[in-house]
Amino acid sequence: MIKAVTGTRDTLPSDIPKWNYLQSIVESVFSRFNYKEIRTPIFEDTSLFARGIGEATDIVGKEMYTFLDRSGESITLRPEMTAGAVRAFIEHSLDKKQNLNKLYYMGPMFRQERPQAGRFRQFHQFGAEALGSNDPLLDAEMIIMAYDIFAQLGLKNLLVKINSLGVPASRENYKNILKKHLEPFFEKLSSESKKRVDTNILRLFDSKEENDRNIMENAPLLLEYLDEDSLQHFEKVKQALLASRIPFEVDARLVRGLDYYTHTTFEIVSGSVGSQSALCGGGRYNLLVKELGGPDIPGIGFAAGMERILLACENEKSFTLDEEKLDLYLVTIEKGLENFSYNTALNFRRNGLTVDLDYLNRSVKAQMREANRTNSRFVLLIGGDEFARGEIVLKNMSTGAQKNFGKDEYDKILSEIKE
Ligand code: AMP
Repeated sequence: MIKAVTGTRDTLPSDIPKWNYLQSIVESVFSRFNYKEIRTPIFEDTSLFARGIGEATDIVGKEMYTFLDRSGESITLRPEMTAGAVRAFIEHSLDKKQNLNKLYYMGPMFRQERPQAGRFRQFHQFGAEALGSNDPLLDAEMIIMAYDIFAQLGLKNLLVKINSLGVPASRENYKNILKKHLEPFFEKLSSESKKRVDTNILRLFDSKEENDRNIMENAPLLLEYLDEDSLQHFEKVKQALLASRIPFEVDARLVRGLDYYTHTTFEIVSGSVGSQSALCGGGRYNLLVKELGGPDIPGIGFAAGMERILLACENEKSFTLDEEKLDLYLVTIEKGLENFSYNTALNFRRNGLTVDLDYLNRSVKAQMREANRTNSRFVLLIGGDEFARGEIVLKNMSTGAQKNFGKDEYDKILSEIKE
């Protein structure tokens, strides 16, 4: 038997309501902040991600689904959305249409990671990108939107962590200081971290190796070396968060190891999902649009993992959804009336009701069981003496009350059900 590929999952009908619920909250929060949806292709030219995410990252270095298509082009399934959104922004000159573009997206992403709880190879993200302004209030807006979405889902066990990476000049200076500091410990670093000292030194703060962590414990922090402008930017973000009553803490070790990141970075973690605890991450990327061949336009964004969010919701029992219900189930109690039932059902469906009936030639008892299983609010009984008199019987399943109608009195039945 062929099974789903490792690290991918099916979303079965019984899981769809909670996905739809999450999606509806995401859409409503983003639209209240006037973000507009953008959809881009699921695959892109490989070079977009190599340039837009960075060769030295895990994503580009080890995790991308890259293949040559039949014409020999190198194609990659998108591992995240920022690069694609920025490509589309540049390609369609969205900056010429309005000065600030506030975009959001939702959809599947692909990374060949080692599958484990909370890590999949096809997973889903929603996120936002705001392109065209360096206002720190937008940095705060991103964090507020993500937090509001989580709060609306009823999530409680959340921690917002923020940091600033400043601008490249002060960062370069700091990287040299950090490198100098690490020199005496170099030989003790893990082999991965040794490599990163030259390629992506900030990522040493992310190392899971005990030894690396001990060494980084006493390392100087970038926050202590930020220039005045960056400090002011960061201060304004913090003020806006305080005013919005979002609890947060500064985590000077929170790095997003990408060179085009500037100023604010943030993560929201949940205490309810185990070790893969980041529900979302984001930051300002004032250098990315230019890096991808566009104008010198600042941007900021975040991405949130939908599987993890739903897992947190489940573990916290943060919301419950009403059971799905049918408005009406038609029970055909007499052979030969199947066509009448079928056409009656069709008529009610075309008038907006959720309706089903038997297709398995089942007994009346089994049809009634099916009406119960589908939580039908009403049952329409078709056949017997009533039908011989030209009537059909509507039964209210919660009260048990029955009412007879003429067999073509659709409007009367409709208004009874819609009441
Ligand atoms: P990133 O784009 O790596 O910053 O990830 C943003 C968010 O996407 C994370 O905080 C996770 O919630 C989610 N995420 C990233 N990678 C995966 C994965 N392999 N499986 C499930 N969720 C993921």
